Amino acid sequence: MPARILLIDDEQGFVDTMAKRLGKRGLTVSVAYGGEEGIAVLAKDHSIDVVVLDVKMPGLSGIDVLKSIKADHPLVEVIMLTGHATVESAIEGMKFGAFDYMLKPCEMEELLQKIAEAYDKKQTHETKILEARARHIELRRGD
Ligand SMILES: [Mg+2]
Repeated sequence: MPARILLIDDEQGFVDTMAKRLGKRGLTVSVAYGGEEGIAVLAKDHSIDVVVLDVKMPGLSGIDVLKSIKADHPLVEVIMLTGHATVESAIEGMKFGAFDYMLKPCEMEELLQKIAEAYDKKQTHETKILEARARHIELRRGD
């Protein structure tokens, strides 16, 4: 899977371990240890496909970060990571455009599966937009 991933989580050890594991599976992984840092990474790197986003972080919350991502990069898919205590927030996140959520600690295979689904959705979405654009150009030629 050629997906490019951004992990945003304030638990540095968790982020680094996940990044290493996902990297071994062939994903290109960027990391950020907080919401503001994550938003800055996305602003610079337009190749990110899927963000794996912690709900509970000091400073900007996961929901704040999600809203910002969806406003500025609507095609980027976001998977929320949450503990039991903040499941409600993660579900709330889905109303604001998160692709899905997962409970921590997450099973590697399950996370990979969700990332693959989110990546697929983004690819399909982008293809549709390209097709719509091509159709539009053809219509204009016919004028
Ligand atoms: Mg956290």
